[in-house]
Amino acid sequence: MHLGVIGGGQLGRMLAEAGRDIGVRTTFLEAAPNPSAGGLGEVIVAPYDDEAALDRLAEECDAVTYEFENVPVEAVRYLAGKVPIHPGPGALEQAQDRLVEKRFFRSRGIDTAGFEPVDDVAQLRAAIDKLGLPAILKTRRMGYDGKGQLYLADPEQAEGAFATLGGVPCILEQVVAFDRELSILAVRDRSGNKRTWPLVENRHAGGILHWSEVPAPGVTTTLQQEADSIADRLLEAQQYVGVLAVELFQVGDRLLANEMAPRVHNSGHWSIEGALTSQFDNHVRAVLGLPLGSTEVPVPTACANLLGNVPDLSELLAIDGARVHLYGKAPRPGRKLGHVTVQGATPAQLRERLEAVLALTASGA
Ligand code: AMP
Repeated sequence: MHLGVIGGGQLGRMLAEAGRDIGVRTTFLEAAPNPSAGGLGEVIVAPYDDEAALDRLAEECDAVTYEFENVPVEAVRYLAGKVPIHPGPGALEQAQDRLVEKRFFRSRGIDTAGFEPVDDVAQLRAAIDKLGLPAILKTRRMGYDGKGQLYLADPEQAEGAFATLGGVPCILEQVVAFDRELSILAVRDRSGNKRTWPLVENRHAGGILHWSEVPAPGVTTTLQQEADSIADRLLEAQQYVGVLAVELFQVGDRLLANEMAPRVHNSGHWSIEGALTSQFDNHVRAVLGLPLGSTEVPVPTACANLLGNVPDLSELLAIDGARVHLYGKAPRPGRKLGHVTVQGATPAQLRERLEAVLALTASGA
């Protein structure tokens, strides 16, 4: 079988690796030459909305997916009539706009932080009056890894903050005093079968995911069920096919949805070694119309991103059981260059191994 992937970053690379294991060939459409996924399949270097390039994907591939969420929706719509493309354009469109996304969560009965649309400074002042401070001003579009957002503590900052973000449409969000950040990864296949992986706990550094642990410690059955239900409502609303990730804030026994990613997600990289079927395996299967595999996690697992620089490889590999994945990308401050997965027979052993990894990786965040 032949899979098309729009985007050629590390997520595309890991999708292709999962496909390769079951004999699936991958072709990437990537705007920049020499992408991370380059060695794993043919790369069509062209803008993401290039019709000739999209036509080639449609002709050559059995199904197409994408690995980043700022893919032009028009490109996905263009493909939709020609080849199975999953997730569909509706989910992508919702995930690209924070206001649409948060309204969608609410429409499905899913809690979020309080939010207000902000199109100009007058609306920002009104939103501050309504929501109170502190609050976070976020651009509606193109924000990721903490980019395109500013923390507001004082009403005096309103005008400057709006200008700093470029005067583009924004939302103002209440700051949530969360206990911790979690994510739920879920997958739905073409026939409507669904699975979720256990809740993941995520720690960020400077707005970028630093490390994840699964199962998130101390998760009750009720909390897992609530997260599964959130994922289920979103998957069903869209007749979604593929992996969906939802980032959550835990406040006591409540879960608030922060954002969703209609793709495989950084907080699921641990699943390559940590789950019976990884997010990449199941995404490829779902998109190509193959049966899903078990999302069971036999042993506690953690995963740390290598941000900004790659520590000494010998030191990393000397950590018992550490599995190192390097993406072949040039170092740059804060850039995701790879990740390291560790497992432990007990939570204490996992903690010890994770701390050994973090001691080597902390400096680049
Ligand atoms: P985002 O780009 O929305 O995923 O935000 C990046 C990070 O900023 C999140 O992972 C949180 O750590 C923090 N953050 C975002 N929104 C809020 C909020 N409403 N309240 C508290 N922290 C937030």
